[in-house]
Amino acid sequence: MTQPLSQLAPAQLSAIRMLASDIDGTMTVDGRIPLSVLQAWQDAETAGLRVLLVTGRSSGEALGLARYLPHATWAVAENGARLLIPDQPLELLVPPRPTEHLREVARQMAGDKPLRLTADAFAREGDLAFERDGRTDAEVAELQRLAQMQGVHLIWSSVHIHLSAHLPDKGAAVLKIAERWQVQPHEIATIGDSHNDEGLWQPQRFGVTVGTADVTRLELKHAPMWRTERPGGEGWCEFMRAWTRARGAEAR
Ligand SMILES: [Mg+2]
Repeated sequence: MTQPLSQLAPAQLSAIRMLASDIDGTMTVDGRIPLSVLQAWQDAETAGLRVLLVTGRSSGEALGLARYLPHATWAVAENGARLLIPDQPLELLVPPRPTEHLREVARQMAGDKPLRLTADAFAREGDLAFERDGRTDAEVAELQRLAQMQGVHLIWSSVHIHLSAHLPDKGAAVLKIAERWQVQPHEIATIGDSHNDEGLWQPQRFGVTVGTADVTRLELKHAPMWRTERPGGEGWCEFMRAWTRARGAEAR
């Protein structure tokens, strides 16, 4: 059962050294990253928190963020499929994509409302992504059922619908990176807002799992332990401030 973040014990928070964070709907307000998020990130970074961006967006967009956001270093794109480290070759974290097969499955299951490839398809190689185009959760869940019958995985976010032959799992990717950063799973917090973040919320995987306020509207197999009071970037700042406070209290 998901509890309000305000009830999380500071001692449990101060053990966290790394935050794996979704971007869209989690760090954003009206689709943009506000200055308040960058400020909260700066404060937490100074106190020793390392943030790994973990997005469903394309490798191209994730690489840009990893390079230019003030405290970003590495980013995981395409729901755990690719790791982006500026000035290093892209790393594929899953098997290569069977593009033609996925296109065919998309054609068959969409029926008379064809799925539209995302505009960022040119910068995406881990999965095949389509615009959600206003489809409701129930409509997308029906597409997921049809995809499953063809042995294809379908997950969705607030903006996109993703098809892949591998099981998309942001959490599995985070565990791989954490090993390279020498961070233990119980020292990791995760935060997200949507269905494609369920791998970040899988029980027993991470020390602290958080959803922004929007998660109360979702039907989830794996729900986060904690939820922020506010949605999007404001909720993200809540978490960062709580962590920074808990860390500061421990240092005193
Ligand atoms: Mg999101």
